[in-house]
Parts: sequence; C-alpha cells; structure tokens
Amino acid sequence: MNKIAVIGFGCAAVHGIQGMREGGYTGEIHVFAPVDTPPENPMLTTYYASGRISPEGRYPFGTVAELQEKYGLTLHLNDPVTRFDAEAKTLTTRSGGVFAWDGALIASGANPWAPPMEGDGGDECFPMRTMADAQRLKDRLAQGGVKTALVVGASMIGIKAVELFVNAGISCTLADIAPHIFPLAALDGTAARVETYLREKGVELRFNAGAAAIGKRPDGGYTAAFTDGSAMDADLIVLCVGTRTNLPFLIPGQINVNRGIVVDDHMRASVPGVYAAGDCCEGNNLQSGQTQVIGLWERAGTQGRTAGANLAGENAVCDGGMVQNITHFFDMDFISVGDKRLSGESVSFTGQGGRLYIEAVVEAGQIRCVNLLGGHRISGVIRSRLWKTARGGARGLSPEEIGLLRREDVPEGFITLLGGSGL
Ligand SMILES: Cc1cc2nc3c(=O)[nH]c(=O)nc-3n(C[C@H](O)[C@H](O)[C@H](O)COP(=O)(O)OP(=O)(O)OC[C@H]3O[C@@H](n4cnc5c(N)ncnc54)[C@H](O)[C@@H]3O)c2cc1C
Repeated sequence: MNKIAVIGFGCAAVHGIQGMREGGYTGEIHVFAPVDTPPENPMLTTYYASGRISPEGRYPFGTVAELQEKYGLTLHLNDPVTRFDAEAKTLTTRSGGVFAWDGALIASGANPWAPPMEGDGGDECFPMRTMADAQRLKDRLAQGGVKTALVVGASMIGIKAVELFVNAGISCTLADIAPHIFPLAALDGTAARVETYLREKGVELRFNAGAAAIGKRPDGGYTAAFTDGSAMDADLIVLCVGTRTNLPFLIPGQINVNRGIVVDDHMRASVPGVYAAGDCCEGNNLQSGQTQVIGLWERAGTQGRTAGANLAGENAVCDGGMVQNITHFFDMDFISVGDKRLSGESVSFTGQGGRLYIEAVVEAGQIRCVNLLGGHRISGVIRSRLWKTARGGARGLSPEEIGLLRREDVPEGFITLLGGSGL
C-alpha cells in the first residue's frame, strides 16, 4: 500500500494518521477536508462561544503546518470529497479532482440534524458542532441584545448551551420532544433530579414539546411553535436535536451502511482496503452485541488508531464500545454508563448526605446501566466494572476499589451489586 486517502481531519482522522505512521507505514497520506483550519474538538464549541477558552484552545492537535510536518501529509484542504468509489478505488473532490487510492480511512464524522419544521426562521437557528458554529454564536452574543434564548434538544450538547446562556445572564428555555432531560442516557429518577436542579437555576423546561415551526419576528427575534400546541418567543434559538452520519459521498450499494458505515473489530468496512472510524461508523456495542453509532471523543480516537494501524499492515483490534456520557454543567456532574434501553429492574441509592445519587438498571444480578449525580470520583471504578462485565470478565472488585467506594460513602447495597460483597 502506497497511497492512503483520509477523508476528514478530526479526532478519528488524526488518530488514524498516528496509527499509520506508528505502525510503520511510510507511503503517501492524502488528507481531504472541507475547511482549512486545524482538526477541532467539537466538545469545546460551547466553551469557545462563551469565551472560556482562547482561540488557540480550539485546536487540540496543533496547527495544520505542525501536523503536516510531523506526519508527512499531503493536504487537500477546502476540498471535500464529493464521491467515493469503493470499487474503482478512486474519489472525487469538490474542485473536480479525481484521486486514486489503494487504502482509505473514512472519518467524516457527523452533522447536526433537525426535523422538518415550518416557518422562515429555521435556517437562522444556531447548530453546535464546529468551531465555525461556535464563532457565529459568539459573534451574535457580542452584538448584544440577546435577553432570551431557546435551546431545542435536551441533550449533552443542549445542556452546555443552556449553561452558557444562564452564565451570561440570558433567560433560557430548554425544550425537547422527549418527556425528560437526557432522554438517551438518564433514568427517570436521575432525570427528575437534574430537572429540579435546572429549575432552581432559573431554566424553564418544556418536555413533550418538539419544535414544529420557527418563524422570524419583525423585531429580529423568533417565535417557536411546539408539537404540544404551545409557542414562545426568543431572541436566539440553538438547535441540538441530533446528528446524522456525514456520508453523502458514498455510492449507494457499494459499502454496507446502516446508520453509519458498518465496521468489524478491525474497523474494516465491507469492501477490502476501506476502513472507517469515529462518528461516521457503526462499531460493536459490547452490551447489546449489535453495531451502533456511539459518538464519543475517546472512542473516535481508539477506532481511528486501530484503523490506522491496520492500514499500516498490523493486526489491531477494537472489540467494541459501550454507551457512556460524562457531562459537567454549573456545579453538577452527570455520568451515565451502559445502555439505558436494556431491560431490567430499577434501583437507586444515595450517599454523602444526599449529594451522591446512584440509579441503576439491574438484570439477573448484573448492572446494565448506571446513572451518577455527584459521583465523578467513583465513576472510574464503575466504568471499569461494567466494561469487564460486558467483556465477560470476572465480576469481583479489588480491595482498593471497595476501599475507594466506602471512602466516598457509596451504600453497601450498591457495592454488593457491583460485585464487592464478602470483604
Ligand atoms: C457540542 C458537542 C459536545 C460533545 N461533548 C462530548 C463529550 O462530552 N464527550 C464525548 O466523548 N464526546 C462528545 N462529543 C462528541 C465528540 O466530539 C465526537 O464523538 C468526536 O469529535 C468525533 O470525531 P470524528 O473525527 O469522528 O468526527 P469530527 O470531529 O466531526 O470530524 C469529522 C471531520 O470530517 C470532515 N468532513 C466532513 N465531511 C467531509 C467530506 N465530504 N470530505 C472530507 N472531509 C469531511 C469534517 O470537516 C471534520 O474534519 C461532543 C460533540 C459535540 C458537537
């Protein structure tokens, strides 16, 4: 292999390139991307928009020139891939160039998605994925005059936008079509506690209320109408409703695609020589045994490195992942580990005089999903235990782990559930 095409220049792509060079690949690496800025960390978008990080802090991997020199890259920036022919082993770019490759890593990530909505204001809403989105929001806030904001989508991204507005003294409403906050991650008791906390912070919450229409007002603001028949005005609207894999350049029928490119544990797509990693692909969910897009920063890196090493001729394996979320907003930590869709009995525990709340779904004595509020110091032990269980490993906790849990005032009932009884 002497000509590898990398589609995308984000977390998965950079780790893929690292994996190629560390695996001994010395041939050409051609990187294609729609922008000419360095690889970004989308998690930092709201921090940048709120001024909490500097312009340089947006780019965790360094400058374009540094990456080019370090990894010997041939860059095709401002020239996204528009067509990828997996059978002819060629790709076409926006500028019309056709490029022949003998190995490819597709790492094109995901795009914000919004449902079809009526009204003339939808296009002026703010998505939150790239630093360009963050810059737009930052510029709008700097113009002044924003007194009210609506965040549509009670997701991990939505909550960071809420935090940004509340901290800026802007009156904020959070709306979602789901009945509770963090619908993909929070169990009922945890969601209720987070909602109480947000109301105490002055956030107005609207659930069972999807955005159905967004119209412009003559004063420059917007009116949002919801699926429950209600409506509200806001000076600014952020849409954090969901994401869709970014794969418009694939030729239908060539590569096995479900919601994302389906990959095996070597990050191979269904056509030889083609690998995929990050938010554009579906790898194994260790708990369900099915493939699933799990859009997480660390996972994108692991998948990218695995794909890169294999493109270099190694035999690297990424056996799968687990759904997890860790988010900090105001002074609250919400941590979720495991797939909340799995069935089981719900149990809850409190510790530290009520500051620690643990809720879990348990089936046949095994924890399927855990929510923690105020438990960031114990989350490592819990994550490690659930990962080992999902991989079929031994169920016990070490004496050190049990000691840590007891020091953090974790109730004995939960320690036993985790596999720590008898010590
Ligand atoms: C606001 C926000 C908060 C988040 N918070 C967390 C968090 O707390 N914890 C966590 O684990 N994860 C979080 N994530 C998710 C995490 O950022 C992603 O999982 C990770 O960035 C995925 O990396 P990626 O390389 O697959 O995709 P991306 O980082 O999206 O990179 C994709 C790249 O592909 C390029 N591209 C797109 N189309 C083309 C094309 N046609 N041709 C060439 N290149 C193309 C893009 O320009 C980009 O460079 C968050 C994401 C967002 C948006």
